[in-house]
Amino acid sequence: MDTYIAVDVGGTQLRAACYPKGETKPLLQKRTSTHGKDGSPVDRLLDLIATVWPDHATVKTIGVAVPGPTNHKQGILYRAPNIPGWENLPLVQIIQSRFNTRAALGNDANMAAMGEWRFGAARGHQNVLYLTISTGIGAGVICDDRLVLGQNGLATELGHITVLPDGPVCGCGHKGHLEALASGTAIARFVAEQLAKGIPSSLSQTPNPSSRDVGMAAENGDPLALEALTRAGRYLGWAVADFLHMFNPSIVVLGGGVSQTGPLIIEPMRQAMSERVMSPEYLHGLTIATAALGDNAGLMGALALAESVSK
Ligand SMILES: [Zn+2]
Repeated sequence: MDTYIAVDVGGTQLRAACYPKGETKPLLQKRTSTHGKDGSPVDRLLDLIATVWPDHATVKTIGVAVPGPTNHKQGILYRAPNIPGWENLPLVQIIQSRFNTRAALGNDANMAAMGEWRFGAARGHQNVLYLTISTGIGAGVICDDRLVLGQNGLATELGHITVLPDGPVCGCGHKGHLEALASGTAIARFVAEQLAKGIPSSLSQTPNPSSRDVGMAAENGDPLALEALTRAGRYLGWAVADFLHMFNPSIVVLGGGVSQTGPLIIEPMRQAMSERVMSPEYLHGLTIATAALGDNAGLMGALALAESVSK
């Protein structure tokens, strides 16, 4: 029997699973913390892969989702902000030399996009725009049945396109990027600024309200919380209209915690998209969906990657 091993590397947790070829139910799956007393994160990762290695089957490929930018050609992780010391890490070479099996890696947002495309909300689509909206905004794009990677694997960082040239400072240090206007961090920051100005809100009783708190207050009809989500949704819609012009997808999949506020952010997004799109054909047959795989998106994407490089 042929199998694939999928690995999801997070800043706090490592997960690995072994899947028989053509199946999405794992034979074995394990998880452990990324940081621990016994061994470096790389040692812990290699040990975890060994624990899901099948006894009586061949592993064709090991697919790995990592939390940072990667060069898919060289098999290198450029950096992982939550794992100190992981810089220019030749992870594919490290895994291949330990297990003598082909390995491939991709960044977590791209892997989540692949997971949703192969096994989740975007199954059957050939052109997919995936956005994950949580503390930051990540993205992955499938164009004509291929993941868009670019020369050095750095394509489709769609959270870092300029929406307001003089807007708030982004996590990357530049001004007015989409992430600085529509991420969970941006939503929480907008609410904090309005509260500091004395705008009345049920959130004035909550110390440092998070975007999740804002989502709950909005569901209860709080005007400031509703405004914060409408504002973020509008910026998102402007940006998505631009992405429709670039990629002409048949589905937009929204993942991450913020998209779980559902219509409160998606409706203003939809409205702004239809206002900004250059012609109505971009919206014909366009599906807008929330992600289906939840926490498993990275793992399933790593499986999809392993399968795709084995073809
Ligand atoms: Zn940025």
